[in-house]
Amino acid sequence: MCGILAIISQKSNISEELVLSLSMLQHRGQDGAGIATLKDNNSIFEYKKKGLVSQIFSIDILKNMESSVGVGHVRYTTQGSDSELNLMPITLKKKDISEINNSLQNILKKKDISEISIVFNGNIQNISEIKEILKNKFDFIAKTESDGELLGALFLFHYEKSVIDSIKYIQTIVKGAFSVLILTNSGDIISFIDNYGFRPLFWGKKVKNGEIFYMASSETPPLDSFEYDIYKEMGAGDILFFEKNRDPIFYEGKKERQSFCVFEYLYFSRPDSIIFNQSVAEIRVECGKTLAKTAKKHNLLPDIVIDIPSSGYFAASGFSEEMNIPLKRGILQNEFMKRTFILPQQSERDAGVKQKFNIIKSIVNSKKIAVIDDSIVRGTTAKYLIKQLKLAGAKEIYLFSASPKIFNPCYYGVDIAKREELIVNYYSHDGLERYFGVEKLIFLDLDELKKIFDRNRFCFACFDGNYPILQDE
Ligand code: SF4
Repeated sequence: MCGILAIISQKSNISEELVLSLSMLQHRGQDGAGIATLKDNNSIFEYKKKGLVSQIFSIDILKNMESSVGVGHVRYTTQGSDSELNLMPITLKKKDISEINNSLQNILKKKDISEISIVFNGNIQNISEIKEILKNKFDFIAKTESDGELLGALFLFHYEKSVIDSIKYIQTIVKGAFSVLILTNSGDIISFIDNYGFRPLFWGKKVKNGEIFYMASSETPPLDSFEYDIYKEMGAGDILFFEKNRDPIFYEGKKERQSFCVFEYLYFSRPDSIIFNQSVAEIRVECGKTLAKTAKKHNLLPDIVIDIPSSGYFAASGFSEEMNIPLKRGILQNEFMKRTFILPQQSERDAGVKQKFNIIKSIVNSKKIAVIDDSIVRGTTAKYLIKQLKLAGAKEIYLFSASPKIFNPCYYGVDIAKREELIVNYYSHDGLERYFGVEKLIFLDLDELKKIFDRNRFCFACFDGNYPILQDE
């Protein structure tokens, strides 16, 4: 999972707004970040580094990158290593291409494109096949392990007839999830999404002092903060093309295949995001209320509800409201720690969880506690915190997951890579209760979750194994 962003104005400098907006997508990836902007001489300047957005970009760097158009990326490693080489944006230049294919140079010259910079969110499944195509047809060998480089190269090599033909070719041959933004050296921004629409991408528009600005973002909060109105929510197969100082051109994809990732609502997206006109926070509250109804059926009577911060909060508030018992802050989170789930190595996750949380003993001591987590994937966080809560004197613990059991890997950009990593595949339900050391363990029922959503537009594959794209494994 990553975050992507683009801004295009008519003339004003956007580099500062680009970076400030990108920091609002930091939760989507903390391995590194980068931006690319167009300089006055129509060449692309990129700057990317490992670390957090706030640590990477200084005033001087932003001054050097002043521009009316640019793209940005925060990386969360699901493909390749977390080395600096794999950070985005990835800029492909005419020089790189001339080394590869002379006839292509002529095509690009004709179209006045000599450079592109690409950012993307998702995961390509048929990487070997795409690499073979690029090698055999165009003698192109990728320099990085990033899927973004492959998508960028495909785009450039097929840019013979039109932007649209090139994108439609990518949408046909690339299997997987990809929400893409491309900056060209003509000052255009091209955006497109795979034919299943797994990952979010929004466009917003604002008019300030008579000047029109557009912003694309993986989530809506940067659009809210910088006063953009929603212009387009990109769905399965959609293409939106912004030529400098012209009205945007939109090509609608086939919506019957739409398979949006339901995990975006349950864990990944910010609670203040709006997706398909539904508030992520409100969906989580709804999941919490549904869990509370199950708790009532089991005659559970906790004294207090506590959330596992921070993504368990809204489900916990729905649970508390439905059960009419108080929601307390019994676990404190160190806000400066990375999100534990998206740390790349298990050893880092184990160490991270210890530094990230602390228990407030006076709140939990002698209490029967309903503990609400957003989901249970590897079980690292829940296992550690239950032990700490018991050490702090909790009398009974009922653990609730506001997502159903996750049995299956994700091939579409979320780091749930292997069945062996998933704790529910190791134990029976009773076994899981013993493993976590809780009096009761309740997961959100999958059918109940599907009732909350229009089941035909969403991917639930990590829960039910019904992958929208057939798997070769
Ligand atoms: S498999 Fe799960 S995490 Fe992956 S896209 Fe589908 S719902 Fe999202």
